[in-house]
Amino acid sequence: MKIPAIDDLRLDGGALCLDYVNTVPDRKDGSGRDLVKSFHELLYWARKAKAIESSAFTTLERAAAERSRGAKEFFTQAIQLRTLIYDLFYPLSQKQRIKPTDLDSFNKVMARYSPHLQMAAESGEIVLRWAFDADQFLRITGPIVKSAQDVLLSGKLERIKECPRCGWLFLDTSKNGMRRWCSMEDCGSNAKSLHYYYRKREERSEE
Ligand SMILES: [Zn+2]
Repeated sequence: MKIPAIDDLRLDGGALCLDYVNTVPDRKDGSGRDLVKSFHELLYWARKAKAIESSAFTTLERAAAERSRGAKEFFTQAIQLRTLIYDLFYPLSQKQRIKPTDLDSFNKVMARYSPHLQMAAESGEIVLRWAFDADQFLRITGPIVKSAQDVLLSGKLERIKECPRCGWLFLDTSKNGMRRWCSMEDCGSNAKSLHYYYRKREERSEE
């Protein structure tokens, strides 16, 4: 079954962990819209965002049908993780510091996931790789946790920004670091046309 709202969702966060945060599509309009309200929607989004492979989708969906309570518990934790990632990165977007209690919480998350990380040799390089069982739910969120860890350690915290219009968080990967909007086509162009509208109105009132 298709979920058009997720199919249409842009992945403009510049990092998987921020794309996950942006599954709450508009934090500023008070609508409380949330595109990930169930395990199934989370799984669907994770496949779109390439957090999991397509082949894992069917396996995990079947596992959730067999272990519905476990899937529900996992889903609750996955949403707590999303809130935590937002709480970690939002202050950075406002040029503020991360709260020590939030960093503590993230350390607890890392402690839970890190036993599943393994070193592996891959075409002459050593890489860190997840070693989850095929039907383990943590497979879905593992890459998100790793992404948050990578961004926090990237030395580019000043590049974490909040779109002033919709409240999306993104990592500005542009060359000059001047990106202002989550997307030029969406919020950027809307803001531009709004600006244009006000300027025209002012011009008219001056006439
Ligand atoms: Zn935006």
